Amino acid sequence: MSQQIDQLVAEYKNTGSLKGLPSKLYIDGNWSDAHNGQTMDTLDPSSGKVFASFSAAQKKDVDLAVEAASSAFHNVWKLTKASRRGEILSRAADLLEQQADRFCVVEALDSGKPLAEAQGDIASSVSALRYYAGCADKIQGDSFPLGEGNYSFSTLEAVGVTAHIIPWNYPLATTIRGVAPALAAGCTAVVKPAEQTPLTALMLAEVLRSAGLPDGVYNVVNGTGAEAGSALVNHPKVQHVTFTGSVDTGVLVMQAAARNITSVTLELGGKSPIVALADCDIEKTAEGVLWAIFYNAGQICSAGSRLVVSREIHRQLVDKIVEKAAALKPGHSLDNPNFGAINSKAQLDKIAGFIDRARARGIKVACGGNKMHSAETADGWFFEPTIMDDVPMDDELVQEEIFGPVLSVQVVDSLEQAIEAANCTQFALAAGIYTQNISSAMQLSRAIDAGQITVNDYWAGGIEVPFGGNRRSGIGREKGLQALRSYCATKSITLAF
Ligand code: ADP
Repeated sequence: MSQQIDQLVAEYKNTGSLKGLPSKLYIDGNWSDAHNGQTMDTLDPSSGKVFASFSAAQKKDVDLAVEAASSAFHNVWKLTKASRRGEILSRAADLLEQQADRFCVVEALDSGKPLAEAQGDIASSVSALRYYAGCADKIQGDSFPLGEGNYSFSTLEAVGVTAHIIPWNYPLATTIRGVAPALAAGCTAVVKPAEQTPLTALMLAEVLRSAGLPDGVYNVVNGTGAEAGSALVNHPKVQHVTFTGSVDTGVLVMQAAARNITSVTLELGGKSPIVALADCDIEKTAEGVLWAIFYNAGQICSAGSRLVVSREIHRQLVDKIVEKAAALKPGHSLDNPNFGAINSKAQLDKIAGFIDRARARGIKVACGGNKMHSAETADGWFFEPTIMDDVPMDDELVQEEIFGPVLSVQVVDSLEQAIEAANCTQFALAAGIYTQNISSAMQLSRAIDAGQITVNDYWAGGIEVPFGGNRRSGIGREKGLQALRSYCATKSITLAF
């Protein structure tokens, strides 16, 4: 870790907080309190302690932010040359990269994830800004062959004000994943971070401002989902909502958007399978499955939370993953352990509830299964890396998203059974396949219903690759060129001569 990270970690350990953390709302280029002065606390999941507080927006504050974004859209941003928008995003990428150490410490502290994981998040956020900076002046329409006497073409026009509702597992990365393509396309943005992780979206405001982003183009209204989030997604001047979170909240967001005929991108839950066939490389597969479910302590919508394994290698593979899981060491996020905290006490209790009920049903616990209490975890919220073995297809451990470090193992006897098991839930977000046989890999890739499939490397991908789910996992795609389309409306123009 760098000297600056060491200094920030020392400051936090000595004082219980960090100097200079943002705490206000960011509306129209100004830092302001909520109009009624309301604030909320943010907690360090690794210790369970409050380390900062922040302004909590009410409907009135959200209205101001949307008005500012609307005015900035019509008067400034949509009139700004596309190449200039790209330059600003590109400069923001450079500035974020320069400030990566501070961002990484704050992100680790607020979310509970290990420093090294937070570093990965900041690096991918920089990549996303660079990627969409390069896209800004390449958003092009088509021409249509009507024949003699007509000339017909289309333009892709920015839709207007966009709302971004952010979850607590990837606070900055999810913000940038939505905001960067929106801004590149010429839209303005109002961001509502999760109440558990309010800080880095605010810090991004300073980065964007320093990069030259005009006032009102990017606004942040922290607060609760019920108050600030709901006011934002119900606002009639919002033209697109990008939401990442739970299915239940996604339904509310979609209902609100429907009333205003607002388009939505929904990134919802997952229960993504990893299919391991008998011919897979056991070591590589075990390592892949380990990080597919235990990275960010399993708090990832696309985590590989189900292992669908051929009976021939079931014992050998599960034993190998159990052995690797035993080497995961929890600890305070700023001590950079290889296994981090659960983001909130409520989430920790929810995970424990799933395992308690499974035990009562007689499901085998191959490893873990308990909240952690040790010198390293102190009063933080930690749950052991957990593997539940040979789980029946209709069990809630297979069917429900747990959003924690819990792998459910399903044993199968054929490729057909593997496909059936992989597709047996209401979710269809991601899937991993481990096999040496290209033909089996292709058959599975065709047959599994998911937005993204990876073969022999579960987390393979990047900002270039579209990301999103089918069925109850969501609507639309983020990342890649496809994300830009969510923020553009096609206009056709036809001339007769
Ligand atoms: P979780 O239950 O894990 O916190 P949610 O899906 O409820 O997940 O939260 C994801 C994001 O949605 C958060 O920023 C939260 O504040 C926001 N949110 C919650 N309820 C609503 C709502 N009714 N309208 C808009 N946003 C909401």
